[in-house]
Amino acid sequence: MNNPQSWEARADEYSLYGFTDLPSVHERGAVVLTHGEGPYVFDVNGKRYLDANSGLWNMVAGFDHKGLADAAKAQYDRFPGYHAFFGRMSDQTVMLSEKLVDVSPFDHGRVFYTNSGSEANDTMVKMLWFLHASEGNPKRRKILTRWNAYHGVTVVSASMTGKPYNEVFGLPMEGFLHLTCPHYWRFGEPGETEEQFVARLARELEETIEREGADTIAGFFAEPVMGAGGVIPPAKGYFQAIQPILKKHGIPLISDEVICGFGRTGNTWGCQTYGFTPDAIISSKNLTAGLFPMGAVILGPDLADRMQAAAEKIEEFPHGFTASGHPVGCAIALKAIDVVMNEGLADNVKRLAPRLEAGLRAIMERSEHIGELRGIGFMWALEAVKDKATKTPFDGSLSVSERIANTCTDLGLICRPLGQSIVLCPPFILTEAQMDEMFEKLEQALNKVFAEVA
Ligand SMILES: *Cc1c(COP(=O)(O)O)cnc(C)c1O
Repeated sequence: MNNPQSWEARADEYSLYGFTDLPSVHERGAVVLTHGEGPYVFDVNGKRYLDANSGLWNMVAGFDHKGLADAAKAQYDRFPGYHAFFGRMSDQTVMLSEKLVDVSPFDHGRVFYTNSGSEANDTMVKMLWFLHASEGNPKRRKILTRWNAYHGVTVVSASMTGKPYNEVFGLPMEGFLHLTCPHYWRFGEPGETEEQFVARLARELEETIEREGADTIAGFFAEPVMGAGGVIPPAKGYFQAIQPILKKHGIPLISDEVICGFGRTGNTWGCQTYGFTPDAIISSKNLTAGLFPMGAVILGPDLADRMQAAAEKIEEFPHGFTASGHPVGCAIALKAIDVVMNEGLADNVKRLAPRLEAGLRAIMERSEHIGELRGIGFMWALEAVKDKATKTPFDGSLSVSERIANTCTDLGLICRPLGQSIVLCPPFILTEAQMDEMFEKLEQALNKVFAEVA
């Protein structure tokens, strides 16, 4: 950092870092990367890191998948860009929509493209507002989500996100309501069984709908497993308890599958893993295996028909992004779906998930300061606690999870601190040997940091 010409100093001078712990990056310098191989990335100094976070959940096929890069190159040569306005769109866009409905849990549906997951959630909210108004229910505008949900960073999707950091923006906007996070280990009351906890959350939903009026609520959004909230699988029976209540009140259930979609939980969709049928699916991140910024709203049969009718009524749906349905993004997504589903990546997640869980559980059992292991498939979190029995967290000023993640980085392992948890969501191509490397480095870092702080 002393040399002003270093990559780290140049990054520090010219970047406004997002979602980055500034004291830590000033002290350590940014990790500036040049390339990748399989699940590994390399920095400007030639140091290799096993990226146990798949980039940002999305690089599921690793960092140098030749077939994906070739699909991108071929499409850049054939037709490098187009929009999807005014009744024109690329052939790739047509094929991808067909494919997405085909691999979705829906018999029939319609697809709309965005450039990100945030925009896909914003788009879905605009669709619901448009649809309800068109059907004579203009008051149906409130959006229900949960605390600790992550739905993105645009004004609407940040309002849906249930994290306290959005207060600095004066968000959420009015009409975005957050219900209890379905994390039994943390939010279950003393003496409350998991079943009672779920019943309490269902009651809360029912009471909220009664208090606000069903005729003021546009939709309910949920990640099957909360991702950026700390990898939180739902309490047992949660979706089975809430879905009938939403149905009864005519409130669409939207599954935000930006992380869970395309294999992360061991099935194509997280809603399949948890046994519920949403009215629409939000996809992004793994949709292109991280090679292109793209999101999609996949409407199930009911919403597809109603949206189509609403649009027909005023002769258009006045919404879209310049790069919606970009042909290169669509070509990459078509290839990515094929790679994940037919080149053994989804199978690898299914096959190795029990091994991943067992390895992490063994680490937890050997440690005095891991209070909970939670997750499914290839998405897991270990939660650090000062005291296992009382679930007491470490003092926030100790920055325990940041220290663990920084120590991992020093050891050549990238993982992510989230609250007091460490998140591990490796690429789907991970081998057993690479998994063992991850376990070893992680445990070494945990032992070092816990010895310092405990
Ligand atoms: C990442 C994420 C988003 C936002 O996607 P961006 O592409 O970053 O805008 C939305 N929902 C979930 C569940 C996510 O994990």
